[in-house]
Amino acid sequence: MSFMQKIFRRSPWLYRINAGSCNGCDVELATTACIPRYDVERLGCQYCGSPKHADIVLVTGPLTARVKDKVLRLWEEIPDPKVTVAVGICPISGGVFREGLPIEGALDRHLPVDVNVPGCPPRPQAIIEGIAQAIAIWSERR
Ligand code: SF4
Repeated sequence: MSFMQKIFRRSPWLYRINAGSCNGCDVELATTACIPRYDVERLGCQYCGSPKHADIVLVTGPLTARVKDKVLRLWEEIPDPKVTVAVGICPISGGVFREGLPIEGALDRHLPVDVNVPGCPPRPQAIIEGIAQAIAIWSERR
């Protein structure tokens, strides 16, 4: 790590996008913001409210036709080098909704996904592990 990188070293900001989730994954994600045992602040990061401030984006849900354009637009607003995490089986493959008409298919058909956290919904421990992987990737890309 260069001298300048050390000076400007900082913690990553996390941002959540709901791409049509049943909310099961979002409930598990919420535990990583408010239950001390699983709190992402233990990894040195925090959630933020704007995609423009984000470094790591966590996407839940099967990417429905209704929200696809908004999801892609929000994702574009996140500055590079962003890291994308698919949380739950829905953004990975469509999950239980994959045969549904208003489903646009796996998230990685539309944008690059760096980390997959399978499960329906994944346990908080798995989400934390996925975030730790994303932080490692983000640190390398900076
Ligand atoms: S993976 Fe399961 S819990 Fe998560 S959004 Fe899909 S159906 Fe809901």
